[in-house]
Amino acid sequence: MSKKKLVYLSRSAKEELSETLGHEPTLGEMKNIFGGKGAGLAAMTDAGLPVPPAFTITTEACIEYMKSGEFPEGMWDQTIEALKDIEAQTGKKFGDPSNPLLVSVRSGARQSMPGMMDTVLNLGLNDETRAALADLTENEWFSYDAYRRFISMFSDIVMDYSREHFEEKLEEIKKEEGVRADTEVSLEGMKRLVEEYKAMYKEHFGEAFPTDPHKQLNLAIKAVFNSWNGARAIAYREHEGIPHDWGTAVNVQTMVFGNMGDDSATGVAFSRDPATGEHEYLYGEFLINAQGEDVVAGIRTPQRVSLKGSRNWAERQGIPEEVRASKYPSLEEAMPELYKQFLDIVDQLEEHYRDMQDMEFTIERGKLWMLQTRTGKRTAASAVRIAVDQVKEGRISKQEALMRVEPEHVELLMRPSFDPEAEKKVIARGLNASPGAAVGIAVFDAERAKAQADAGKEVILVRPETAPDDVPGMLASKGVLTQKGGATSHAAVVARGNNLPCVAGCEEISVDVGRAQLTVGDMVIKEGDTISIDGFTGEVYEGTVPLIEAEYGRQTALIKLLEWADEFRVLGVRTNADYPKDARRAVAFGAEGIGLCRTEHMFFDEKARDAVVRMIMAETDEARRAALDEMLPFQEQDFEGVFEAMDGKPVIMRLIDPPMHEFLPSREELIEEVAELRCTNPDSPELTEKENMMEVVNGLWETNPMMGLRGCRAGIMYEGLTEMQTRAYFQAACRCAKRGIKVIPEVMIPLVGHVNELKMEREKLEAVAEQVMEEEGIEVEHMFGTMIEVPRAALTAGEIAEYAEFFSFGTNDLTQMTFGYSRDDAEGKFLLKYVEGFDTGEVDENGDPIKFKILETNPFQSLDEAGVGRLVRICVAEGKAAKPDLEIGICGEHGGDPASIDFCHRVGLDYVSCSPFRVPVARLAAAQATIQNAK
Ligand code: PEP
Ligand code: MG
Repeated sequence: MSKKKLVYLSRSAKEELSETLGHEPTLGEMKNIFGGKGAGLAAMTDAGLPVPPAFTITTEACIEYMKSGEFPEGMWDQTIEALKDIEAQTGKKFGDPSNPLLVSVRSGARQSMPGMMDTVLNLGLNDETRAALADLTENEWFSYDAYRRFISMFSDIVMDYSREHFEEKLEEIKKEEGVRADTEVSLEGMKRLVEEYKAMYKEHFGEAFPTDPHKQLNLAIKAVFNSWNGARAIAYREHEGIPHDWGTAVNVQTMVFGNMGDDSATGVAFSRDPATGEHEYLYGEFLINAQGEDVVAGIRTPQRVSLKGSRNWAERQGIPEEVRASKYPSLEEAMPELYKQFLDIVDQLEEHYRDMQDMEFTIERGKLWMLQTRTGKRTAASAVRIAVDQVKEGRISKQEALMRVEPEHVELLMRPSFDPEAEKKVIARGLNASPGAAVGIAVFDAERAKAQADAGKEVILVRPETAPDDVPGMLASKGVLTQKGGATSHAAVVARGNNLPCVAGCEEISVDVGRAQLTVGDMVIKEGDTISIDGFTGEVYEGTVPLIEAEYGRQTALIKLLEWADEFRVLGVRTNADYPKDARRAVAFGAEGIGLCRTEHMFFDEKARDAVVRMIMAETDEARRAALDEMLPFQEQDFEGVFEAMDGKPVIMRLIDPPMHEFLPSREELIEEVAELRCTNPDSPELTEKENMMEVVNGLWETNPMMGLRGCRAGIMYEGLTEMQTRAYFQAACRCAKRGIKVIPEVMIPLVGHVNELKMEREKLEAVAEQVMEEEGIEVEHMFGTMIEVPRAALTAGEIAEYAEFFSFGTNDLTQMTFGYSRDDAEGKFLLKYVEGFDTGEVDENGDPIKFKILETNPFQSLDEAGVGRLVRICVAEGKAAKPDLEIGICGEHGGDPASIDFCHRVGLDYVSCSPFRVPVARLAAAQATIQNAK
């Protein structure tokens, strides 16, 4: 027999692993070997908590099983040994007709995959052990109920004979007996069900239901191993990026029963509110006289664990206090001693794991058992709140808190919610299961939801309740609405884990999947009708409700976390803002300056644009100068507003950049209009005007405008244009300075490829700046610099640095020109396909097509380190060598992308600059870059 240890008892797992490893195992090591659930069982048992005796078959055993399709050598013998130990611990025996041991068999991967894999409960039951269970519990009904649950679960999970067949039978009997709840079925009914279930099994498989508990266990373990490669589990891993070769552990644990009468119960709880992160009370649900699956399945309305939570829930549901207290008492009221014991345990668990826990518990005849604990899935809001609170409680360091929140969480918190002022028609209220606002067409089937979303529609998936098969459809939707299920239902858990807005348990609506519609009162919402759901409040609205921006100022936990981020980050964070209002917003979000003001955007104002058109079309110097004079006040006014908003922070004004034809009407439209007018109105002045315009447009027309007369080239060729901009800028700066506003104007020259372009522009513009300062009688601290957007500029950085006090990487153009991909067209034409990959005709071990990807990521979103990054490195090194105090930043889209920010940190840039809404994201990502690169 192989000596390899593949099965560990929870009571000694930690100790034995210590011996094998030669050191106390870390939580990560425990999870790798025992899976998250097994590690939790071992840790809880080790901490002396009440955990039903259990053992874990390692992930390694699963990996070997997947290779050979057979249990690895020695595994089954070790399982039998472990079983004997459990028998000794409990005094019960597997298959014993007088005191039988019953077990649960559950999967448990390294990383939690809720609802994705399989569980079998009550294993070990057969006719004899059922009778013994009835005697021991003096509850015959319970024994039959446990038995029929086991037959259906075993058939479904282990033998792949759908549970639905058994559910149908149950429904039939309930109808016959005229009862609604499963618990109301008579003893006779339960007996009949067991017989009918066994008969169904025999008919389907041609052999009797397996009565040998060892055989049951053997098959169940195999089923759990196989479930690792089930379609659901694979889809989930694909989405979450979990490797397919980790395998799952199998946990075999003594069954305890929450359905042994009114002194028994079962429930789930989070140590903090997984939606908001609040810590005011224990957030959990339970049911008296029920088995674990009843709580999450949404068949009965669960009760709340804490009194406060119960009252809040009842208030939201409009349930009067007397009704709540008598019909849905909290655990705190119903079993106060056990509630206290539970609170103590929760505290111990949080202390141990130093994070929010998601726990399962059962009370069997007045004794509390902990079945499971794991780090709880949470929303963006709660991730931030919990991280911040845990620092304040002294449980974790600021660095840990910063690393626990994902930049994506911050992005989500900047997302909009429904406008409270907007008129809206509430059609129903449910549970605010996962926050966020979503608008979309109602779709009543997960597959159709995915198809509609893939076709570009915004979808709200509406289901009676959700199951693991619905996950792909849920993830493709903007939000989820369910009729049944509580805050810990499948829909709620998956939605929270994926930051999907979700309203669950909305009992006021009636979902008819067959007809693809929902009814509420006499209103009918059909598939394709638009609805809005509010995961913050639990409200459902008819039609589209307008959205408003997130109120950053009220997000106190996020503000605190980002203050800590500022303590750690080395990179500065600036913003790309073109107007005073954007600048103000960005400052509120923590921007330390403007890294890019695209001045051409200021000409989008109609009057300003007219002047620009006149400037372009001017036939004489006077006409051009007159047009430029008209443009100047527009620019100056906006610049003053920007300086006021930035109040002493540096502002980089980038000189006009796009090709001039962008300010003129489209050539294609003009051709059509002229052709039409020539036919319909050949003598009209309008035709002459259009013909003149067409001549200019034709004159400006370029085959390759992005590589044409734009950036500094336009500044050089259009006399007076960039001089006007510089004048406007310095006039605004000097005038603000005279009003007591501190200003740091910086002028940035775009699209430089050769040092002489910069030299020429800079000398000309510097003269204008000096002249304005003289005219205004005030000197302002200022800088001249350049964008690095053309590969040649990056490669000749040493020369270029001589004429620049700062560089700013325009990685949008730099990526375009390094790859030779048009930033305007590449995505639609080929780039997305490059990233998605091409079929190779081969399939992987799961039967999925193997794709050949030309690119791992879209280089316009995440900076290409190997190519564009190499240019950046060369440029930084040569630029700094020529001018050590050269200031270097980035203002392309990559400045707000967390992975690119990490790169910017590593190459030693001074700052990143991004759109206002990404400023908070960049602050966190910059802090994370400092922390993770210091390791
Ligand atoms: C860039 O090219 O990265 C840049 C910031 O400039 P723009 O996007 O305006 O071309
Ligand atoms: Mg550019």
